[in-house]
Parts: sequence; structure tokens; C-alpha cells
Amino acid sequence: MKVVVKLDSTKSKKKSFIAERSESISMKGHQKSQVKCDTDSVAGSMSQRACVFCGARVVLNPITDAIHLVHGPIGCASYTWDIRGSLSSGSELYRNSFSTDMKEKDVIFGGEKKLEQAIDELVDEYHPKLMFVYSTCIVGVIGDDLDAVCKKKSLQYGIEIIPVQSSGFIGNKAAGYRAACDAILKIIKPEETTSQAIIERKSNCKRVINYLGDFNLAAEAWIIQGYLKEIGIDINVTFTGDANYEALKKATDAELNIIQCAGSMTYLAKKMEELYGIPYMHISFLGIEDTKESLRRIAHFFQNIELEEKTEKLIAREESQIAKTLHWYKQQLQGKKAAIYVGGGFKAISLIKQFNEIGIEVVMVGTQTGRKEEYDTIADLATAGTVILDDANPSELEQFMTEKAADLLVGGVKERPLAYKLGVAFIDHNHDRKHPLSGFIGAVNFATEVHSTVCSPVWKYV
Ligand code: SF4
Repeated sequence: MKVVVKLDSTKSKKKSFIAERSESISMKGHQKSQVKCDTDSVAGSMSQRACVFCGARVVLNPITDAIHLVHGPIGCASYTWDIRGSLSSGSELYRNSFSTDMKEKDVIFGGEKKLEQAIDELVDEYHPKLMFVYSTCIVGVIGDDLDAVCKKKSLQYGIEIIPVQSSGFIGNKAAGYRAACDAILKIIKPEETTSQAIIERKSNCKRVINYLGDFNLAAEAWIIQGYLKEIGIDINVTFTGDANYEALKKATDAELNIIQCAGSMTYLAKKMEELYGIPYMHISFLGIEDTKESLRRIAHFFQNIELEEKTEKLIAREESQIAKTLHWYKQQLQGKKAAIYVGGGFKAISLIKQFNEIGIEVVMVGTQTGRKEEYDTIADLATAGTVILDDANPSELEQFMTEKAADLLVGGVKERPLAYKLGVAFIDHNHDRKHPLSGFIGAVNFATEVHSTVCSPVWKYV
């Protein structure tokens, strides 16, 4: 493994990244801005990415009345237990984590019997309508037939038991997103799939949409639901925050799919357009500008003046309520520098805009699963000298945060210790946070959190 390349020649040459990673890292204004992305991680380079199984689990876990059974060693289930702080308005079944706890003996002789036993026990204990059975690395190696076991048990119990093909060797975390979407598509299947039936059902619906890629962390989906309700639009199903079996079955009633988390849900939206004729649009409710634009675009879709007027009224009211507070934060935070390392490219784009709204310059931005078009937009938004990187490892994050003198890192649970070890403020924009960051209220929460951590006196003593 060659270790040579360095982006910033003006600084110390002590640290560097491995040569194989050079195409996945660029600096705005210094090199071609396109970074290599959507590829598997480089062997030998410890990636911040989670595994395929984890990608599938984070997408499906918020389905509240489902049993989530992980077929694999106990650690896979533990690693993803209650992984999202998703809230439920009904069942709490999803907050358990079930595992077949495979041992050496199962690896040698096969784990299908153990899986059947686990399904029997869970059906007996919880009487679920829906069960997901996740494949993990070891299942991919020994070749247990998940499809056959799930089919057999589905027929036996008359419930939906869906195999999730998420063993670790089929790609990166994004492959897990697709496996989750494929599992959802198996549930959605409406009773009647003829195009005539779909047209008739839709003509009876009035301004009903599905909200894709919101996991109802700290009630975020409910906040957006409130805004849309006020302007006259109902959310049919949220994928997957606070979703349940009955709701998923009605997914084809929607006239439009809107997508917040593009990385995980664009595939599902495309499939629903192809199969059921439901158009989709990407939106973002992170930050004031994106929230306003998204509400306007959704309202505009329905081509109704009254609806568009209500949208403007809501925007004016919400904006005026928070303008003073945000202005104060902007003054306090002027000149601070932020580094971003998040899961998807769409979130990174919104965060760059949101940091600009509160007077903070973004000096490093990276994602785990960003796509080419998202990195193009990131490169357009970034200022000269900003480091852009895909599928980074901790060493690279440390190197660029130090070189760029970032005051703050925004990321997920795996990035928190890194920030604190470097004596840099941290914001959790992932599963663990307890307050909403979406919509107008979320923009204020974000600014408040940024201010309290960046301006904390603790950094003087580190
Ligand atoms: S063993 Fe495989 S599936 Fe389980 S957590 Fe590790 S990488 Fe993911």
C-alpha cells in the first residue's frame, strides 16, 4: 500500500492518505472537483461507512409493528439495536432487537433450523403481522436459504415474513438501502395492480402524498406533516418513520412521492413510478431556504392557487417568528468553520446551505454514500479550498479537520469520538439525537446546538 499523497502543501507533511484513496478526495479550486464515489471501500483503509446489513436495518427499523429478526452472530443485532431514535404513534415492537445468535456449530452445519425455531418462537410470543429477516455476512458465506425459510413460514402462519438480502459481501452500505427498498416493495403490492384500478383509486384521492426518506427522528416527520396539513396536503405513508403494516399497504394511494433522504429512497421512488405511476420529487426540510423551497415545490405540484397562497402565508409566519433568533446566532457564529461528514449527499448539500445561513464557512465536506450528481452540487456550493471526500476513514477526517482548522464537526455516532479527541465541537445529525432538525423549528434547534457546542468554554481547557 503506497502512502504518499498530500493535498495541502503549505502545511506539515507528517500525515498523508493512501494513494488508492487519492481519486476519492479533492480540494475545490486546486484540482478537478469530481471525486470518485459510489464504489466499494479500499481494502486496508478503515472506512467510516457501515455495512450492507446496517444500511438495510436503518431504513426498515422504523416500521413500528414489525419484528426485526437478524439472522447472524449476536453482534450484528447488537450493533444496530434501536439504531434510530424514531418515534412511534402506536406499536413499540420495533424497538426490540431479535437475533438467531449463530454459533460455530451453525456455521458448520447451517443455520436454517435455528432460523425456523426463532421465527416459531417470535410468532408464538408476539403474533406479528409482519417480520423482516435480515441476512448478515456469515449467512452470505454459508449460504442459508433465507427465501425458502421465509416462504415456508409465511405459508405456515399466514403472515408476511420478508427476507432482506443484506449480507455484507454484496457491496457497500448503499446496497443495503436497495435491499431494504426491495423488501418494502414486497409489502406494498396493492390488491389490484391493473392500471385502471390505480387510476380510479387515485382519482378519489385529494392531495395525498407519501413522504420517503424520513425516519421520524425526534418527531421530524410529524412536524412536516403539520406544515403540509395546514396548507391542505395529507401524508399517506412515511417511509419509514412511524410506518406500520396497514399504512404500507396503502402506499399506492398517493398522488406524489416526496423524498428527503435521496440516498436510501430514490430507488424505491423510481420503482413506484415505474410500477404504479406515482411521480416523485426530491425535497429537503433541512434549513430555512430548503424548507421554503420544498414547501413551494410541493404546493406547486397540485396547481392550485389557494394552496399556494396558504403555503406563502405559512412561510411568512414561520419565518418572521424565527428571524430575530437566527440573526442573533449568525452574529455570534460569524467566522467559525465547520466540517461535515454524513451518510448521504443530499443531507450534505442541505447542511452546506444551512451553515451559510448562520454565518459558518464549510471547510470539509464528505459522505458515506453520496452520488456523482450530489458531489457536483457540493462542488458548486463549496468555497475555494474546501476539501471534498467520499467514504473517508478516521485518519483522513482527522488530517483535514486539523489542516483546515475546523471548529466543529457534524456527523453521526462514529464521528463523535474523533471530534472530541481532536478537541473540536460536535453535532450529531444522525440516529442518536433527541431534538428535531427539520423545518423552521429544526433550523432554530440546529443554530442553538451549533452555538452551544462551538461557543462552549470547555474548548479553552482541551
Ligand atoms: S458481521 Fe457483517 S453484517 Fe454483521 S455487523 Fe459486521 S459487517 Fe455487518
